[in-house]
Amino acid sequence: MQENLVLYNSLSRKKEKFTAINPPFVGMYVCGPTVYGDAHLGHARPAITFDLLFRYFQHIGYKVRYVRNITDVGHLENDEDHGEDKIGKKAKLEQVEPMEIVQFYSDRYHREMDKLNVLRPSIEPRASGHIIEQIELTQKILDAGYAYISNGSVYFDVEKYNEKYNYGKLSGRVLEDLYSNTRELDGQSEKRNSFDFALWKNASPEHIMRWPSPWGQGFPGWHAECSAMGHKYLGEKFDIHGGGMDLLFPHHECEIAQNTVAIGENSINYWIHNNMITINGQKMGKSLGNFITLEELFTGSNKVLEKAYSPMTIRFFILQAQYRSTLDFSNEALQAAEKGLIRLLKGVENLNNLKANKQNNFDAQKFRQDCYNAMNDDLNSPILISYLFDGLKTINSIVAGNENIDENNLNILKEVYDTFLFEILGLKLENENSGNNKILENVVNIVLNLRVKAKENKDWASSDFIRDELAKIGIIVKDKKDGFEWEIQ
Ligand code: ZN
Repeated sequence: MQENLVLYNSLSRKKEKFTAINPPFVGMYVCGPTVYGDAHLGHARPAITFDLLFRYFQHIGYKVRYVRNITDVGHLENDEDHGEDKIGKKAKLEQVEPMEIVQFYSDRYHREMDKLNVLRPSIEPRASGHIIEQIELTQKILDAGYAYISNGSVYFDVEKYNEKYNYGKLSGRVLEDLYSNTRELDGQSEKRNSFDFALWKNASPEHIMRWPSPWGQGFPGWHAECSAMGHKYLGEKFDIHGGGMDLLFPHHECEIAQNTVAIGENSINYWIHNNMITINGQKMGKSLGNFITLEELFTGSNKVLEKAYSPMTIRFFILQAQYRSTLDFSNEALQAAEKGLIRLLKGVENLNNLKANKQNNFDAQKFRQDCYNAMNDDLNSPILISYLFDGLKTINSIVAGNENIDENNLNILKEVYDTFLFEILGLKLENENSGNNKILENVVNIVLNLRVKAKENKDWASSDFIRDELAKIGIIVKDKKDGFEWEIQ
């Protein structure tokens, strides 16, 4: 086991050596998506960042219980305590059950994450399945005297909390500034202060998703779910809580306040946050017209994109930046990443064909340790990738006969690429002519040749049937003078 992993802790604002509470077990909770729309670029970075950490922990010998929730209730439109529930609103618009929206977009989220080779978490709890736990959490906070009931809603009393504890210790915000920075908004009058947040909300008559509680019909506040589910599945004290930087305030700050009162002050050891993605230097947003879903990226169907980019190009591109740096998407940068990845994979092909010599002038053990050092330094994937590129020079030089490698060092070198490129960085080959794709191509050609025969026999029904059925599975057939052409849509 590598004992030298250092991670940046957002709470202490410094890099700290990672020590598990109960080795070899690691408990990791990551805030998952609110499922009311297609997965987009903004979902890819946290998913890949914590996938990298999940994979690395496992590689160095930990048994990880990775919990990533699905937010399916209580996330209101403006991320605060007013506005409509994001999922309820969509359900009303489409005249379906809210849980149909949740199922539909959860399935699509999984599909896109699978394409990005993001491993599924160990547990994926839904907020709507943990209402009882959220009511219990709210009751504990009420009992401790840090919440108040107002019109059937329960609010966390931030001012009172701040008298004893430090509200803002994660985000660095100071309550005095929050007084002056927050405007009084409509519907906030039932709160003592605008920065108080809802643990439980009274449901208005038109609100669809509602449950009975000691305070009447209502639904849990967004921040309550992660505290309740994290501690249910990982215990009162656990190792890691993560998410995107945008969740640091107020979401995670509020979680810390809830945990401190209901569970214990230091209930989570490491808070880890990935930085955000910009597009051509701008924040991504629906209103800015630069909002890109993952599906659009993979198919190229967005006017911002010059072409389609494969899932592995996106993954590689994201890993080329350290997770705490900002990352700017542009066609130019993606195309450079695409070329770089092809070069690396080609290098691995050359490596697998290499023959060992008797002589050796390459220290593969040092090379391997350099790669571990990069990962141990707060998951420095760009440095790791730069080492893997450096290794290509050695491989090419051995191929050209300018350097030598013996069997032992060659085996280590192969293991390094296997381990770091595929197992830890989670990249994989996407060669279109590989295995299954070749079989698919042959099968489609057989079917289409049958269609040519049907047409020769004037069996138009069979001919149309084949064309229409293929279209249903996304294979579009174009008739040509002397045969056919087809493509996968
Ligand atoms: Zn959360």
